[in-house]
Amino acid sequence: MSRHVYRASIFHLLGDPAAGTDPLAGWFDDGALVVEDGHVAACGAWDAVEHRDSDRVVHYPGALIVPGFVDAHVHYPQIDMIASPGGQLLDWLENYTYPAEMRYADPSVAREAAGFFLDQLLAHGTTTALVFATVHKHSADALFEAAFARNMRLAAGKVLMDRNVPPALSDTAESGYADSAALIAKWHNKGRLTYAVTPRFSASSTEEQLALTRRLLDEHPDILLQTHLSENEAEIAHVLETFPGAPDYLATYEKFGLVTERSLFAHGIHLSPSEWQRLGAAKSAVAFCPTSNLFLGSGLFDLRAAEAANVRVGLGSDIGAGTSLSQLQSMNEAYKVGQMRRQMHDAFTLFHLATLGGARALRMDAKIGNFETGKEADFIVLDPAATPVLARRYARATTPADKLFALAILGDDRAVQATYVMGACAYSRPLAISLDFPGARPLS
Ligand SMILES: [Zn+2]
Repeated sequence: MSRHVYRASIFHLLGDPAAGTDPLAGWFDDGALVVEDGHVAACGAWDAVEHRDSDRVVHYPGALIVPGFVDAHVHYPQIDMIASPGGQLLDWLENYTYPAEMRYADPSVAREAAGFFLDQLLAHGTTTALVFATVHKHSADALFEAAFARNMRLAAGKVLMDRNVPPALSDTAESGYADSAALIAKWHNKGRLTYAVTPRFSASSTEEQLALTRRLLDEHPDILLQTHLSENEAEIAHVLETFPGAPDYLATYEKFGLVTERSLFAHGIHLSPSEWQRLGAAKSAVAFCPTSNLFLGSGLFDLRAAEAANVRVGLGSDIGAGTSLSQLQSMNEAYKVGQMRRQMHDAFTLFHLATLGGARALRMDAKIGNFETGKEADFIVLDPAATPVLARRYARATTPADKLFALAILGDDRAVQATYVMGACAYSRPLAISLDFPGARPLS
């Protein structure tokens, strides 16, 4: 049985720093990550871990190894219309999103995009994501097939929407239920895949479809649910018009039993104290999508409210309203959202959102999120010398918090030197970029 030992600086979180976990307990200036059969066998200071003569050592001098990033909210078909200008959420959906998603009626479009999207996730350091496909069943098939081929831990679902959407993108309550059930049977728990039942948002599904969504949750006790919640003020008004008498947006999901510990709601920007309290009581999770929320002018997420309500929070790129697949860029914008709210999100909090926090939000923290022994070895190698400005700033950082902060604010996909999935190298930065900086020694 071969063991690989990855040597570099290492950082991972053993718990939520906001809940009192010491973030420095997982920092090693000269660290060793020991991987055996795709799983973490040990992690600690180089001098403190057990070394064997048969170990294969891979040294990344000057680099920082962290757990693979988790993207808690992203739409893979929207990679085609990222960076589309103008309008807030509802106009933007009509003008850009729906036309882009209509192209996925062609299975070959879905297959090509799924492979491109996953390769780009890996190149940006993201090893796990919770993904919206389109309404087309084959769009989810294409993504699962591509993720299975890459051995990725990924959750996704075919979108359910049977009202208030263009006819070309509409399913029916029955077809949406049947297609979801067939996808669950085919993909859920195959390899590292998880199915997430995916109503787009409450106003785009009939009451019959929302009721059948609940039936899917009942029939499959370990699938997830993903949807949108309280992203934009016009959207909230539209939801409340669609459900006359509903006291608030969250209630439109509660009515159908969809606010559960398996539910992840994207955005949650304009929630009332009561909605936060109910999300916490239901043990639901929320995705904080800062680049998207700023791009669409949706609003400023209140991370302190989520923490106070004990709501699990992951970080989402929300492509294509988001502007980067890089979770380092999401951290950068999350920090600025915090500033606008007079909330200070330190580097440990930012990295928690993109690693262990995201894993907890997706209920995958028993498998991924940090380097506890036995977990799946999904990790990335960050190069603090990726750009001249980052190199200069990082060299002057004296504490782990300051180093991580420099990476969060100045880093992007250029800083991802390598990405490993279950201990296997799934992405390595093209050599031309790193000629001046020693990279990985080839595995031998
Ligand atoms: Zn979204």
